[in-house]
Amino acid sequence: MKVEGFGRASLLRENRMKQSTWFTIRKIHPHVFALAEFFHWEKVVSYLVVGQKAAVLVDSGMGYGDIHGAIRSITSLPVSVLLTHGHWDHIGGVNLFDTVFIYKDHFEQKLLAQGFSSKNIPELHSAKFFKKPFHPHHYSINGRVPSKTFQNNQRLHMGDLTFLVIHTPGHTPGSVCFKEINLNILFTGDAIYPGPLYGHLPESDMLAFASSVQKLAAWVDHKTIICPGHNAVVAQPALVFSVGKGLQDILGGKISRAEKNGFWEYHFPSFSFLSRI
Ligand SMILES: [Zn+2]
Repeated sequence: MKVEGFGRASLLRENRMKQSTWFTIRKIHPHVFALAEFFHWEKVVSYLVVGQKAAVLVDSGMGYGDIHGAIRSITSLPVSVLLTHGHWDHIGGVNLFDTVFIYKDHFEQKLLAQGFSSKNIPELHSAKFFKKPFHPHHYSINGRVPSKTFQNNQRLHMGDLTFLVIHTPGHTPGSVCFKEINLNILFTGDAIYPGPLYGHLPESDMLAFASSVQKLAAWVDHKTIICPGHNAVVAQPALVFSVGKGLQDILGGKISRAEKNGFWEYHFPSFSFLSRI
């Protein structure tokens, strides 16, 4: 009993700490807040876009901290969630919201329907992936059916906000990027970020990845604000073009590669690429 009581107290302390300090919140634009999980090795970033009558959350984090509570410190507007894809580190907070949208793709919907348990996620097993003072404990995220699905080129009108869906398969088959048309802000999920880009997963496709980034580049100008899914809250527009060229060079056999954990890693100045080929 003594041990149990101590455990509960520890958990309560941890929960309070998570709510208040787990998310690093940065205002990156008058209408956009980044909610970054910098205390975990993956450094996943979700984004809250606040309009006049409604707010939109792009991705919902890894589910360890209370992202809904963090949002309520920013706005009391109703919040809808747009998911860039179905991987665990982007869907963790979905059950804290009534309205969740994902791409009309079987793979992404299957991941969302499954949910996950941290016991099955190697990155959530060990304290070595967390920065102090946070420590992992087991948690589970229930699966769910999306409120709605969307398609390529669809414009999602959420109050005065308008998000264009850009289907960018490659990292996963149903990955998308969202462009808020009026603000010229591009949310790139795991298609673009500074760091190792994952094209080596069983569900990844390098050829599709390359053509997706070419397509994405058409929506980027020198003023576009790039909001990546990991490692930074803002990236330069040039990163999109660099990743696009890098992928073309990889597929053209122009880049040397190094073996890493049974995959290939291609290194560039501001990112790298993990691949099976
Ligand atoms: Zn992912």
